[in-house]
Amino acid sequence: MINIPKGTKDVLPSEVYLWHHVERTARKTAESFAFREIRTPVFEYTELFSRGVGDTTDIVNKEMYTFLDKGNRSVTLRPEGTAGVARAFVGNGLAGGAMPFKAYYLISAFRYERPQAGRLREFHQFGAELYGAAGAYADAEIISFADAFLKNLGLKAVKLQINSIGCKTCRAAYNEALKEYFSPRLSEMCEDCNARFSKNPMRMLDCKNENCKAHTAGAPRMLDYLCGDCKAHFGEVKNLLDRAGVAYTVNPSIVRGLDYYSRTVFEFVSDAAGAQGTVLGGGRYDSLLEQMGEKSVPAVGFAAGMERLLMVIAAENAPVPKDECVDCYLAGMDSAARTQAFLLAAELRKKGVSCEVDLMDRSLKAQFKYADKIGARYVAVIGEKELEEGAAEVKDMQSSVSQRVKFCDLGKLFG
Ligand code: ATP
Ligand code: MG
Repeated sequence: MINIPKGTKDVLPSEVYLWHHVERTARKTAESFAFREIRTPVFEYTELFSRGVGDTTDIVNKEMYTFLDKGNRSVTLRPEGTAGVARAFVGNGLAGGAMPFKAYYLISAFRYERPQAGRLREFHQFGAELYGAAGAYADAEIISFADAFLKNLGLKAVKLQINSIGCKTCRAAYNEALKEYFSPRLSEMCEDCNARFSKNPMRMLDCKNENCKAHTAGAPRMLDYLCGDCKAHFGEVKNLLDRAGVAYTVNPSIVRGLDYYSRTVFEFVSDAAGAQGTVLGGGRYDSLLEQMGEKSVPAVGFAAGMERLLMVIAAENAPVPKDECVDCYLAGMDSAARTQAFLLAAELRKKGVSCEVDLMDRSLKAQFKYADKIGARYVAVIGEKELEEGAAEVKDMQSSVSQRVKFCDLGKLFG
């Protein structure tokens, strides 16, 4: 058999209930914050990402799945969700509708990375975007939303870290300070950092190279360069989080991997997400639309990696609902009974009961074995006698207690 592509994974029927649980929790939390779902294409024109995500990022420089389509247009499988939503926001004239605009997404995303635990080439994200609000309440709402989502999943050891990376004005002074700091160290830093030095020195703080990390440890901190407005904004965000009981620590080294962020940036980190500590990341990106050549609209959002969330749920042993199993297996002992089982199953399904009948021509014993394997709640046995009586012998598979139940009353077992 042909192998699965490197860095991708199958989600099997036996494990999909875990995905459903996380997706359900995501949707419920989003709705409680009055966000509605948005669905955008899996691929976009390549310029959307080179302009929107930014051409000094690892994503655009190294990780994109880009190809020419048959019409010779360069298209790219989305590496993240924010740029597509920004395009949809502008393209559909949504700025003219009710503001703020609030949308969430559950998507697959694609990045050509070196696969490791919690790092895939096709992965999945739950994300949210809020457009139109520049004030600290919007930052606090997005962070509270992310926090509520993780709490609703029952996660306890995922910790929030926040930082402010300022605005264009204060970052200019900061970049100068960084250049001064890094300039004597450049020869010892990686090729990427050398390129970042001239284009966007702040990116150097996000380098994953161990040697570079040692150099960045003593670098100047953005927090010490914030202008009055940015400082006030950050203070207000922290104050609102304190008031709302959302616990956080300030981590001055968070800069986030994308070019479009300004002011607030945050990450929820866990030791359980493998070497990749960040489960959920986000921030404010007031300059995203401007960077894409559009009228600027303030925005703030987050994205969480589904695979990393599932790793953390497993590591923390967080509560998950039981796999939704079959309510009733209808076992037939002979041909006439099998037909009756088949017809009763159809009736029960109309009432919303999940049921199954034998499709393998198995003996009664083998049917019971199968019903047990799939975790059926009840097994309703129908034989010659039961057919005559118009009732099935129903075994509760948890208590092992059996009772006679009229065919017409079977539905009542399932409330
Ligand atoms: P990292 O620093 O781990 O590469 P990132 O900064 O590139 O993360 P974002 O672009 O902010 O990540 O994406 C948001 C979230 O999506 C991450 O916090 C992570 O949970 C998840 N994620 C990102 N890349 C991958 C990947 N290749 N495989 C699985 N999950 C991913
Ligand atoms: Mg990355």
